[in-house]
Amino acid sequence: MRTIRQQIIELLQQRPMVVREISQETGIMEKEVFDHLEHIRFSVKAAGKRLNIEPAVCLDCNYSFKDRKRIKHPGRCPKCKGTHIRKPEYSIANISL
Ligand SMILES: [Zn+2]
Repeated sequence: MRTIRQQIIELLQQRPMVVREISQETGIMEKEVFDHLEHIRFSVKAAGKRLNIEPAVCLDCNYSFKDRKRIKHPGRCPKCKGTHIRKPEYSIANISL
């Protein structure tokens, strides 16, 4: 039987997904998805792959959270304090040599 992490890795190799979609596809809670993504970020490296994160963007001022190191969603924009934030998308790709 495949583990949740294997399922998430397979899903993210097919197309980019937000955490809510991963949660719906796997039947686990969103906060559990974050825990798995934190692990997957490191574990896929050994398989020559990389977890790509399309950064969250503030929909009020277009601020990009691209320098953000943590995987969890930002709550509000540090620039305009807005809370309309497009969620980050995650995908897994082979590292091209
Ligand atoms: Zn903003």
